[in-house]
Amino acid sequence: MANSKYEYVKSFEANDEVMFPNLIVVRIDGRDFRRFSEVHEFERPNDEKALNLMNACAISVLEEYPDIVFSYGFSDEYSFVFKKTTKFYQRRASKILSLIVSFFSSIYATKWKEFFPMKDMRYPPTFNGRVICCATIEVLQEYLAWRQNDCHANNQYNTCLWKLVESGKTEKEAQEILKGTQKQEKNELLFQEFGVNYKKLPEMFRQGSCVFMTQEEDIAKYSENGTPVKRLRRKARILHSENIAGRSFWNVHQNLLK
Ligand code: ATP
Ligand code: ATP
Ligand code: MG
Ligand code: MG
Ligand code: MG
Repeated sequence: MANSKYEYVKSFEANDEVMFPNLIVVRIDGRDFRRFSEVHEFERPNDEKALNLMNACAISVLEEYPDIVFSYGFSDEYSFVFKKTTKFYQRRASKILSLIVSFFSSIYATKWKEFFPMKDMRYPPTFNGRVICCATIEVLQEYLAWRQNDCHANNQYNTCLWKLVESGKTEKEAQEILKGTQKQEKNELLFQEFGVNYKKLPEMFRQGSCVFMTQEEDIAKYSENGTPVKRLRRKARILHSENIAGRSFWNVHQNLLK
């Protein structure tokens, strides 16, 4: 109740406003998705439908929260970048984080049947989340470079691992073989033992996915004399790009962060 004698207790709430000009990034990640992906028999090393489901959830997040201008995800994680000047929930980290995490979990469960019509969801998936405060655009770029590097390293490792398992090794043996190997050695293993050219694998697996909104013109209606009346529409775009932290990427997508 407002103005009650208990009102003062409100001041005990943690004050966790992310101060301007820090950029707010929220990353969500599936809890124990190693198990979730086993129970739901995801394809190894990459279940395309599961990735498409994650991307569809990210699109819903961007549609729901217009202050999120860019997102990047792979495997069971997604990072959401807010525009610099956002005043969303007074920039309070716990409010923003809890909203995004709960929205993502709900939408993941809601959309499940769309992507897995033949599979029942055996138990409710949960996601954890955290807020990352990026002091500058450069820090944001380093953050994104780090996530994309993880995407690449995980994918390369898992691709090798599952090729070895397919060829008859146990998971333990395959892990032993890969222990301490460098990128180049893994690429060679894939090519020489299995005839796989790593660079030819789908971009979504190797590079992860970016989702952001664009303004696109379309025709709203035709006026009486037949001329089209145009309007701008926000539309989600999915992109797989080699270097999302690089200058070339942000030169093209500069207006995202304004
Ligand atoms: P934590 O709770 O610490 O995040 P986790 O088991 O989710 O534990 P992660 O490092 O997040 O650990 O790894 C995600 C796991 O989910 C990996 O084991 C990965 O193989 C699996 N996974 C996620 N998405 C897919 C997918 N699209 N296809 C196949 N496997 C997937
Ligand atoms: P906020 O996002 O700020 O929390 P809110 O609309 O959820 O906005 P609350 O103060 O949390 O605001 O109020 C919850 C609202 O939901 C009230 O309007 C209440 O009438 C409605 N509501 C919640 N549970 C029930 C219920 N079981 N039956 C009827 N109405 C409910
Ligand atoms: Mg996880
Ligand atoms: Mg993960
Ligand atoms: Mg409420």
